[in-house]
Amino acid sequence: MIGVVGGGIAGLAAAYRLQQRGRDVRVFEAGDQVGGLAATYETAGDPIEKFYHHLSKSEQTIVDLAEDLGLGEAVEWRIGENAYYVDGTVHPMDKPWEILAFPHLSVYDKFRLAMLTLDVDVRGGVPSFDTYERLEDFEDVRAVDFIREHTTERVYRNFFEPLLDAKFGERKDEVSAAWLLGRIKFRGERDILKGEILGYFEGGFGRLLDALLEAVGRETVTTGARVQDLDVSGGAVSSMTVETAAGTETHDVDGVVVATMPHVLEALTGYACDIDFQGTVCSVISMDEPLTDTYWLNVADEAPFGALIEHTNFVPPERYGGRESSDSRAHQNSESSEDGEHLLYAVSYVQDTDDPLWQQDDDGVEETWLEGIEDLFPAFDRESVNWIETARNPRTAPVYERGYLDMVVPYDLSEEVADGVYYAGMASRAQYPERSLNGGVVAGFECADRIAGAGAFDPEADRVASPSDD
Ligand SMILES: Cc1cc2nc3c(=O)[nH]c(=O)nc-3n(C[C@H](O)[C@H](O)[C@H](O)COP(=O)(O)OP(=O)(O)OC[C@H]3O[C@@H](n4cnc5c(N)ncnc54)[C@H](O)[C@@H]3O)c2cc1C
Repeated sequence: MIGVVGGGIAGLAAAYRLQQRGRDVRVFEAGDQVGGLAATYETAGDPIEKFYHHLSKSEQTIVDLAEDLGLGEAVEWRIGENAYYVDGTVHPMDKPWEILAFPHLSVYDKFRLAMLTLDVDVRGGVPSFDTYERLEDFEDVRAVDFIREHTTERVYRNFFEPLLDAKFGERKDEVSAAWLLGRIKFRGERDILKGEILGYFEGGFGRLLDALLEAVGRETVTTGARVQDLDVSGGAVSSMTVETAAGTETHDVDGVVVATMPHVLEALTGYACDIDFQGTVCSVISMDEPLTDTYWLNVADEAPFGALIEHTNFVPPERYGGRESSDSRAHQNSESSEDGEHLLYAVSYVQDTDDPLWQQDDDGVEETWLEGIEDLFPAFDRESVNWIETARNPRTAPVYERGYLDMVVPYDLSEEVADGVYYAGMASRAQYPERSLNGGVVAGFECADRIAGAGAFDPEADRVASPSDD
């Protein structure tokens, strides 16, 4: 039997693929629900992710998986509109004329920014089309220095710096230019006249997780089961110790996929990973009225959140609605509105648990968000808030520092730990340059294919072989 530690998307994907390859698998999930960071809240309509989620157009493996699971029709590609809140004003940033109208950059600044996003180096007046080709060349360059050198000081100050602040806080100076360039490439497709094309599942990502769970078999997955130890004493993993409400169990295994954050891998095997992770505090705020008409609002002005993400400007509000929260913290000011609920994420990344926001209880966090929204949008009426739910997790995103790729945890840990130990968590290569659900699926497949002796996972070969392509 192959034991999988963790029932997030990576663990479930590994289990699915291992079964496809004829292996006997069991998944052990410490929490009482599968899904990990992609877990959801119920509404009277579709479930909503506790942390905002969408797909980028460049992510194919998760779409192929959805097709294999019979959910191909559920993948929706929608426009996710972006805007920038600067000096008290919301500036839409999708259409060419909106970008041209953005007053905080000159025409020349915008030209330099556009050239960077199009992969053209115009320094010295002679365009070069391959300068940014090899991301490895920029691993040791600081993103902040790179932006200043390859665009203009104003592009850095008025465009990138607030985004880096929101994403990495005081750690922004450590982030590599390779990450920035990879991220620009990763963003995928835009509709030139409308904006960025992003993916979502009809019914939410919970639907994909449910389908994956069904396919793997509910009996294969044990929740409330924390893996406490792996026996690797003989140079190969031979058993795993699992703590459940009923007591401690030991299971013999032929191999193990650790599909968790790397500190769990370290606790189980002693393998230490130097990647630092930041945490997230994120609330879903249900409102009777929309707050803005954009999906993704980056906030450059002083505010307790780096971004406000209005989910129901991406997915229609009619899909949600009318949930009476049983949570005593929830605001229950109003009845459900007829056109469903407007759902807004307020989110902030925290660098450590000493962060004042992290220190606040959920009531405090929710009050902080509401005050912040009132400061930015004086017309906002908190009476329109139906309920708020808050999620937090101390490890949600790697800090993509210089030298990051050297710190990535290999899929196959036979040399570093013991034969039969594999790693599919967020510190794996598939989660670079951005951690994602697709990255989790790829990491799970990478481990499964290695265990099954099929070598590294090859998405292209997989596509050709996929029955859904028939
Ligand atoms: C704020 C935020 C926004 C995001 N936005 C997007 C987005 O827009 N698009 C996108 O694709 N992705 C997004 N992501 C990232 C995405 O959620 C993750 O990349 C993905 O869910 C990681 O899956 P995973 O299975 O690797 O890890 P996790 O989801 O962390 O799952 C690991 C599981 O292991 C369990 N576990 C831990 N220790 C043990 C143990 N000892 N024994 C048993 N079980 C254990 C945990 O309980 C957890 O369920 C976002 C994440 C956050 C936090």
